[in-house]
Amino acid sequence: MVHIELSAPEHVLQSFERPGQFVELTAAGESAYFAIASAPGAGHLEFLIKDAARQPARALCRLAIGQRVAGGVVAGQGFDLSLLEGDVRAVHLFAMGSGVAPLRSMILHRMHTRAHNIPITLWQSAFSVDHVPFLYEHDVWTAAGVEVVLCLDQDPASAGVVEMLGVRRPDLREAAAYWVGSETYGETIRDALKVHGLPSAALLTNT
Ligand SMILES: Cc1cc2nc3c(=O)[nH]c(=O)nc-3n(C[C@H](O)[C@H](O)[C@H](O)COP(=O)(O)OP(=O)(O)OC[C@H]3O[C@@H](n4cnc5c(N)ncnc54)[C@H](O)[C@@H]3O)c2cc1C
Repeated sequence: MVHIELSAPEHVLQSFERPGQFVELTAAGESAYFAIASAPGAGHLEFLIKDAARQPARALCRLAIGQRVAGGVVAGQGFDLSLLEGDVRAVHLFAMGSGVAPLRSMILHRMHTRAHNIPITLWQSAFSVDHVPFLYEHDVWTAAGVEVVLCLDQDPASAGVVEMLGVRRPDLREAAAYWVGSETYGETIRDALKVHGLPSAALLTNT
């Protein structure tokens, strides 16, 4: 996966209001949606692109500095953060692979605005530590009070997210949870979090 930063016209930057929103990027004649990995108000847009055989991801992972790409306006509703204005006592973020991109936007947004004082735990799934995006930022996130739990399916010293939840047994009865990843991952998370007491209305995603 490749972490890229794009400058963008002011009207595009201004239309980015909530973590979880995404943009259609076009490169090599093909278009696809990519979630914004930076926080609203950052003055630029960052993305985490999974290098794929298909375009435009392949071309986006090979951009040269200064190269231009076509982009649409910011799309999607983003994450519904209104839940966090209620009686929520903890926020749990669940990411599979490049799905951590919009959750990084949420982490940075909450770090910058300091709007709430609710503890955040990020459960980040990957095959192994070599496949963990934004590993180089974990120290900064941790210093800001975010707990990162790596869920590494193929690391004998770690385990997948369901097993890690079983080991740590978080009390989710008054929590909110946000997930991003494949549909199968979402179903796995939904089933696992029900076991730990999360009310079904408290599990959200960005699409
Ligand atoms: C709303 C939306 C956001 C996307 N954001 C990204 C992104 O940030 N980075 C990326 O590499 N591809 C993202 N994609 C997928 C991208 O649009 C192409 O489908 C992908 O480049 C095609 O490669 P692939 O054949 O490997 O597809 P797949 O194997 O289907 O890969 C899709 C990848 O996109 C990720 N993804 C799916 N939905 C989201 C989402 N809402 N937010 C973040 N990641 C998501 C998945 O975790 C997976 O890693 C997103 C798709 C959608 C619909």
